Amino acid sequence: YFIEPELFADSAVVIAGEDAHHLIRVMRAKPGDEVIVSDGVSREALVRITELAKDKVSADIVERLAMNHEPAVEVWIAQSLPKGDKMELVIQKGTEIGAARFVPFISDRTVVQLDAKKEVKRLERWQRIAKEAAEQAHRNRIPEVDAPLTWKQLLQLSSQADAAWICYEKENGLELREQIRAALSVHRKDKAGAVVAESLAASDHSKQKATLMLIVGPEGGFSEHEIEEAEEAGCRSVSLGRRILRTETAAMVGLTCIMYESGE
Ligand code: SAM
Repeated sequence: YFIEPELFADSAVVIAGEDAHHLIRVMRAKPGDEVIVSDGVSREALVRITELAKDKVSADIVERLAMNHEPAVEVWIAQSLPKGDKMELVIQKGTEIGAARFVPFISDRTVVQLDAKKEVKRLERWQRIAKEAAEQAHRNRIPEVDAPLTWKQLLQLSSQADAAWICYEKENGLELREQIRAALSVHRKDKAGAVVAESLAASDHSKQKATLMLIVGPEGGFSEHEIEEAEEAGCRSVSLGRRILRTETAAMVGLTCIMYESGE
């Protein structure tokens, strides 16, 4: 049953309107009966009915239940620091879509210069944007936002993911969609106890959720050398289709693809 947020108190709730009518007239509820209620946003609880009036039902909360708005996969967006306020856009929209972590990094053609004096403030601002976007999207968790990494640090981090894909517009073989399907099916099979494919062999299979990392280049793209280094570190170069997307668009398209393929 749905409860207006203002009628959802710490230890008791009031069910009103059509839901109360349904409980009284259709379900013939009595004091002591237990039902599950939700405020449709972030709170869900098992409640015990204490009183039934003409058009409202009062109940005590027996147990709060977790309401899950989180995706089935853990996606890390590694974004080569873009110009202007595009990183903010990536964090805001990426949080709404379902990213778990944002990892800005510096690559060969990153144009933005880091300014040590301003970095702390900027990171705080990014984290605030992630928090606000998580609230607006009714996420159960606020995505992490890292301080910018060097290219080397980023490649090291990529080895912690179950799969890491580097988006490369000159890649004409591997489609991200196919890669996602393969990675997720390996992870699912693994959960069911079947053979683990070589590509995921090094990952931590005790985790319930697959951790997938999507690496997106700067406005000027990745150099061939960077793609080679990433592949040596275990990343797969993938295409997002035949059109060249802006860096911030590429991150959102890749993320949306992953959410779609994972059933979100
Ligand atoms: N010049 C435009 C800009 O200012 O944003 C587009 C730059 S594109 C080279 C930036 C990054 O987006 C690339 O490094 C790559 O990671 C990703 N990207 C864009 N289109 C892509 C595609 N079709 N396939 C794979 N990655 C793509």
